[in-house]
Amino acid sequence: MVDSWAVIRGEANVGGSVVVADWRNDWIGLGVAHKLALDGCRVRLAVTGMVPGQNLQDGVRDFWIGELHKLGVEMIPYARLFGADADTVYLQHTVNDQPIICDEVETLVLSQGTRPLKTLAEALADWDGDVHVIGDALSPRTAEEAVLEGLKAGMAI
Ligand SMILES: Cc1cc2nc3c(=O)[nH]c(=O)nc-3n(C[C@H](O)[C@H](O)[C@H](O)COP(=O)(O)OP(=O)(O)OC[C@H]3O[C@@H](n4cnc5c(N)ncnc54)[C@H](O)[C@@H]3O)c2cc1C
Repeated sequence: MVDSWAVIRGEANVGGSVVVADWRNDWIGLGVAHKLALDGCRVRLAVTGMVPGQNLQDGVRDFWIGELHKLGVEMIPYARLFGADADTVYLQHTVNDQPIICDEVETLVLSQGTRPLKTLAEALADWDGDVHVIGDALSPRTAEEAVLEGLKAGMAI
């Protein structure tokens, strides 16, 4: 079991058959699934939402779903991670709690969350002026929230 960041950094020892468990339904699960499929893995992408990338803009999401389809990635919607043992990953349908069982899995990749990086705001903690923390530094989401919060911060100055 490894997390997405270790996979992206090339630090994870990933086997040939992978389940990506994506809780966020954003670019992380799509991106990691895409990378691993290009690396030649059999990839199953399980997402809690109706569709992978549900929280992204429609055009971006649809493009990447198309790319994953071309690479043979199996996409499993409405699936939350329940557990794993040996070479089985247990998912649970988010609507009816029914089990979804993935056999013959070598690696489970967790795409379960992100953390904000606030070093600049922290460095300015003793500064007398107003500091507006916006975008991913406030909470990692998408470009839309960052732009909106940037607009609001600009208007407030
Ligand atoms: C692989 C990937 C795919 C994505 N796909 C999408 C997508 O399809 N659609 C979408 O809407 N969003 C997507 N996102 C999310 C989107 O990129 C972010 O939500 C958005 O960029 C946040 O904007 P921001 O201005 O808050 O932060 P950032 O874009 O991260 O900008 C912060 C900037 O501050 C700089 N910085 C940090 N610390 C300091 C410091 N101490 N001093 C000076 N500068 C500093 C950084 O170098 C950076 O340039 C994706 C993100 C990733 C990583």
